Amino acid sequence: MISRVFSSLPNRVSQSATAAYFTYKSWRQNGYRGCHSNKTSVIMADITVRILPALSDNYMYLIVCNQTKDAAIVDPVNPETVIEAVNKEGVNLKSVLTTHHHWDHAGGNEKLLSLFGKPLTVYGGDDRIGALNKKVKQDDEFMIGNLKVQCIFTPCHTTGHICYYIQSPASDQKMVFTGDTLFLGGCGRFFEGTADQMYSALIEKLSNLPDDTQVFCGHEYSLGNLKYGNHVEPDNKDILAKIEWSKIKREANEPTVPSTIAEEKLINPFMRVNSESVQTFANAVGNPIETMTYIRKIKDSFK
Ligand SMILES: [Zn+2]
Repeated sequence: MISRVFSSLPNRVSQSATAAYFTYKSWRQNGYRGCHSNKTSVIMADITVRILPALSDNYMYLIVCNQTKDAAIVDPVNPETVIEAVNKEGVNLKSVLTTHHHWDHAGGNEKLLSLFGKPLTVYGGDDRIGALNKKVKQDDEFMIGNLKVQCIFTPCHTTGHICYYIQSPASDQKMVFTGDTLFLGGCGRFFEGTADQMYSALIEKLSNLPDDTQVFCGHEYSLGNLKYGNHVEPDNKDILAKIEWSKIKREANEPTVPSTIAEEKLINPFMRVNSESVQTFANAVGNPIETMTYIRKIKDSFK
């Protein structure tokens, strides 16, 4: 089903069918007014991130520059929740950071613009993104108040996927919003790309960010991903420890995000395709691309 949902969305009819699919999935899992996780915040000196759960397992993120109160929203698929958070926090929403065109990420853009009533800059790397008015590419930069945003182009899950790396120039705080490219303990399906491209995204780009960069991903998939990681590397104690930690968080309805780049390099098999243990699992020692191909293929049907 999932690949059919994402395979082609050429017109309004399939857009509304997709919306109905995701809404039904969310109701079935969380009940009519339920939510997959509690709303929480990560508060640092210069940056606050309000974590806003949406649909059955998506996350939207309200990023606030604490000094100026300027704000941006990542993937606002549920515009009503976003506007409520903006009003409650008393911040100036200026922009939308869209990671990719899939409905459960970009499907709320147009409605947010019409409900909000003031102009918003809508960033993204793909012409299929609704309400897009500022197309970005690798290394493009812009500001959220005093916070610097750098665009990292990571095609594979979709051909126009962008991750957003955010730094506070006044301090050493940094974070990356990775959409459906990098998940806690996993990565997105290769719907429109190849293992080479995911290798470039995860190993050549995201792995080279500073180790203490906080990682905010697009979905709450952590426990499933970590169980697969344990299948790939049964002796990896960092994965076992993260599974136990994640179980406690999920039982309390707490998000497992954010992780860090350092942590992903320890627990995420897709970030570890250069390690001998993951290559051995894939029967491809010395070949990280073949390893990437194999572990993604097995994950696609892993229960
Ligand atoms: Zn997606």
